[in-house]
Amino acid sequence: MKFDKPFKIGAHMGISKGFHLVPKETVEEVGGNAFQIFNHSPRFWKVSLPSEEDVVLFHQSVAQYRLDYKNTLVHSSYLINLASPKDEGYEKSIATMIQEIKICDLLKIPYLNVHPGSHLGEGEGFGISRIGNALNRIFIDTPDSQTMILLEGVSPKGGNIGYYPSQMKDIIDCVHPDFAHRIGYCYDTCHGFDAGFNITKQEGVQGLIDAIRKDLGWDRLKMIHLNDSKYPLNAHQDRHARIGEGTIGKEGFKTFFSFKEWQDIPLLLETPGDNPEHREDIETIREILHEIDPADGWDWRKS
Ligand code: MN
Ligand code: MN
Ligand code: ZN
Repeated sequence: MKFDKPFKIGAHMGISKGFHLVPKETVEEVGGNAFQIFNHSPRFWKVSLPSEEDVVLFHQSVAQYRLDYKNTLVHSSYLINLASPKDEGYEKSIATMIQEIKICDLLKIPYLNVHPGSHLGEGEGFGISRIGNALNRIFIDTPDSQTMILLEGVSPKGGNIGYYPSQMKDIIDCVHPDFAHRIGYCYDTCHGFDAGFNITKQEGVQGLIDAIRKDLGWDRLKMIHLNDSKYPLNAHQDRHARIGEGTIGKEGFKTFFSFKEWQDIPLLLETPGDNPEHREDIETIREILHEIDPADGWDWRKS
C-alpha cells in the first residue's frame, strides 16, 4: 500500500508466530508502516530473552519491509503495576520492566509503553511517588539502554494514575533529572475520551494540545493509540471500539485530525479485531483524512 505522505500508522500485532513476522504482516496484511507488540507473553511474570537467531531474523525483516524503528513500540505486560502498594508485586514489576527494556534494546525498538500504575486505594500521592521511585530504580539498572519509557494516558478507573498529562508531570517530577529524558508520553484517544478530553469538539482538541504542551512539553508525545470508544465522554469504562463505530465517530476523528499537531506522531490501533479489521480501520482513517480541508490544518495529500 502506498502512502500519500509520511503518514505513520499501524496496529498492535500478535507475536505468537515470531517477532520476524510482524514487519511482514504489518505491511502485507494491515497496510501499515508502524506497529506495536508485546515482547513476551503479557500474562506471565517470567520473561525469557529472544534467541540470537530470532533477533537477527527480526532485523532482517524490518529492513526487508523498509520499516523505520522510530515507528515501533512495545507495550509492557499487563501484570506490571509500578504503583503497587504490595511489595512483592512492586518488586516483580520493576524486575519485569528491566527485562522488557533489555528485549527492546535487542530488537532496537526505541519505546516501551507502560500504564503508570494503580494505587489500589492508597491514594494518588502515594502512587505517584511509588511510580517515580520505580522508574528511578529501572533507569539506574539499565544505564546503557536506548529505550525510552512512554507513560500511557489511561482511563480513570480502578485507582489508575495518569489520566491527565498533569499527573505524568507529577511522576516525572519524582524522577531524578538525569533520567527525565528517558520518559515520553503516549496519548490514547479512547482513554482520553473516557477521562473527559472531548476531541469531537475543536475546543476539546485545543484543550488537550494545550495540556500536553503546558504539562509535558510537546516533545514528550511520541505515540498515539488510536481507538474509538464504546462509551460516552467521561464514562471511565475503557472499552475500545473500531474507528467510526464508537462515540468519537468519524466526525469526531475528523475534528481531531484537522489539527496539524498530530502530523508526525505514529498512530497505533488497538481496536477490536485482527489484521483484516485493522486494514479496514486504516482505510477509514484515510477516508477521514481526505475529507479534511487543507485550509483547516494539514494536507495529507501532499508531503
Ligand atoms: Mn495500554
Ligand atoms: Mn492504549
Ligand atoms: Zn484501553
